[in-house]
Amino acid sequence: MTKEVFNFCAGPAMLPKPVMQLAQQELVNWNDMGVSVMEISHRSKDYIAVAEQAEKDLRDLMGISDDYSVLFMHGGGRGQFAAVPMNLLTAQQQADYVLTGSWSKSAFTEGQKYGQINLAADTYTNEKGEGSILPFDQWKLSESAEYVHYCPNETVDGIEFNYIPEVDKPLVADMSSCILSQEIDVSKFGVIYAGAQKNIGPSGLAIAIVRKDLIGRANGFTPSIYDYAVQNNSDSMFNTPPTYAWYLAGLVFKWLKSQGGVAAVQKVNEQKAALLYNFIDGNEFYSNKVEKQYRSKMNVPFFLENEALNAKFLAESEQAGLLALKGHRSVGGMRASIYNAMPLEGVEALVAFMQDFAQKNG
Ligand SMILES: *Cc1c(COP(=O)(O)O)cnc(C)c1O
Repeated sequence: MTKEVFNFCAGPAMLPKPVMQLAQQELVNWNDMGVSVMEISHRSKDYIAVAEQAEKDLRDLMGISDDYSVLFMHGGGRGQFAAVPMNLLTAQQQADYVLTGSWSKSAFTEGQKYGQINLAADTYTNEKGEGSILPFDQWKLSESAEYVHYCPNETVDGIEFNYIPEVDKPLVADMSSCILSQEIDVSKFGVIYAGAQKNIGPSGLAIAIVRKDLIGRANGFTPSIYDYAVQNNSDSMFNTPPTYAWYLAGLVFKWLKSQGGVAAVQKVNEQKAALLYNFIDGNEFYSNKVEKQYRSKMNVPFFLENEALNAKFLAESEQAGLLALKGHRSVGGMRASIYNAMPLEGVEALVAFMQDFAQKNG
């Protein structure tokens, strides 16, 4: 038995242990077929049952109505940075992008290849020097935008919206790092998309939840695999989908249901985040530089007061079985990603380590 480790990687991130164990157990002999689910046709009745069940479970978990299509696509989160404008925008049309950190910035840059992209709000630091979100009444939304794009949780910066913007255009949200972490009202969105590797499953897979009236508008040059209409009409099987990732996502959805669904994991997520932020705020050795109301419950960047101790902190935390705490290279410091699969005990172990490290080195 290897010692217990807690993996705080931002992505690809840890998956629920029971899911990994079940996948291992049925890896080479799935459904008593003598083969892996990885090795069967995506058009077989057995696989289609897996695919349909995963979609149904996701619809149940998020309360997705029949007004929306749920697409299982290739290309991760960044694939959707291109897919969204290719499907919703012509070269002459406008879209509003709200920037709150590095991922929304990347989506903005990608969007510029395809249409007239307005910077509705730039990244914002408040008067105290904390990472924040430009107040909604200062956003420059344009009359003729086809959609408004934003990122509810900035994985790198640790900034999370505590509200859904009320706009009169289709709202497009990159939920790669917060999907299924808290209850949301899907009916407020035109498109929700997410790369899978934070809260859903293996990387490469992306899920796009698209309001049906927005389907069928893709530019002629749009690759078929990125055309929402093509994927919708072929039940996301226009070409071979990432079948194993889709299967694993399905196991994660089942696990979420067994935990009591999104409302139940949301409670645990709130507990985990409160535990870690309260500890950081109460200890002069550590700091977080995001305005309190916009702190991410999934990604917690923090700094050591004495940055000369960073390497020691990382080496000793890894020794203690607390993995991948190094902050993103653009931000520095540390980052603990505490997605759905991270149990409360993992955050408790992290806080205990941080306390001990501060005592020994303070
Ligand atoms: C990880 C992430 C992405 C990028 O996902 P890829 O699958 O690597 O393309 C995009 N947006 C957000 C918010 C992310 O956290």
